[in-house]
Amino acid sequence: MSQPIRVLQWGLGAMGSGMARLMLEKSGLKIVAAVDGRPDFRGKDLGEVLGLGKNLGIVVTDRPETILEKEIIDLVTLATTSWTRELMPDLQKILGAGINCVTIAEEMADPEVQNPMLAEEIDMLAKKNGVSVLGTGVNPGFVLDLLIITLTGCCHRVERVKASRVNDLSPYGPTVMKSQGVGTTPEAFRAGVADGSIVGHVGFPESIHMISEALGLGVDRIEQKREPIISTVYRETPHVKVEPTMVAGCAHTGIGYCGEKEVIRLVHPQQVLPNLENQDTGDYIHIYGIPEVHMEIKPEIAGGKATQALAVNMIPHVVAATPGLKRMIDLPVPAALMGESAYSRRI
Ligand code: NAD
Repeated sequence: MSQPIRVLQWGLGAMGSGMARLMLEKSGLKIVAAVDGRPDFRGKDLGEVLGLGKNLGIVVTDRPETILEKEIIDLVTLATTSWTRELMPDLQKILGAGINCVTIAEEMADPEVQNPMLAEEIDMLAKKNGVSVLGTGVNPGFVLDLLIITLTGCCHRVERVKASRVNDLSPYGPTVMKSQGVGTTPEAFRAGVADGSIVGHVGFPESIHMISEALGLGVDRIEQKREPIISTVYRETPHVKVEPTMVAGCAHTGIGYCGEKEVIRLVHPQQVLPNLENQDTGDYIHIYGIPEVHMEIKPEIAGGKATQALAVNMIPHVVAATPGLKRMIDLPVPAALMGESAYSRRI
């Protein structure tokens, strides 16, 4: 193998720090810089921020403009926000400097759906600077889109697709509890959905658009529903207490229609401690066509670990890609980066 791919890790929260730790294990990748806006990280060695017990000789900065040089950085892994609009100023700096980017921002999985003008701007900026940018993660980016699309590869035809991801929110912190409405009353939940403070899952329009486009299902309308999951038992995590009759999570459904016909239904009920009400977790995909395909993964693919892996495993594909804005359906299949041959096969 030639030189390792030089990476800047931007965002050192739960996901970004996991991505950094994973990259340190990979011989074909080399972390050369780290960025985070947190004042308590600024000026510290990355090894200290990651809790490695040793220094790596990389100082975390909150001023990316001082280090964004394509002579020293090949790619940025960006793990800061969910929203394309919020990401724009940072993306402009990265792509404008002629550096590739992998982001886990949910809307970036297929930004054309909700932000067509921004998607065009990102694509043009990437092409002008000869680099590529990809949005990925466990979901959107894998379970409820790419995995479904891949399974249809063995079908003669597909009439419709139904898939669900049932998971446990207990490992997550206060931000997720709030955005899912956990611990509120059903009335407060409905008010939160109405004013946009309770969003449930971010990514259904992106996943539905990718599936429809890959298969040619002709989705022309997407509907979303968010319902409270009301607990009948007491549930408690380090960050939230849920009394019986209160909300334990959000059952979020996204439906894609072609005319009046439902062709894609994605269901994502997310709640804390579903086991307390005998609810198993898992990923389930049902493809109705010829032949029918039914897949069940129990328990569900671990979201945090999978998001970190997808972002890291896609790095060589993004470096090798033609310039522009890419989605998971535009690049070769993801695979775990194990031996050195994995890099040379991709680049
Ligand atoms: P987090 O809150 O733990 O960490 C975010 C980090 O980014 C923080 O350390 C914060 O200081 C830093 N940050 C934010 N804006 C910044 C900026 N402009 N410049 C520098 N630093 C900045 O969040 P997380 O759990 O690591 O997740 C990150 C994002 O990824 C979230 O929006 C989350 O929803 C998304 N996500 C997507 C998927 C997927 O499947 N696509 C999966 C998991 C998480």
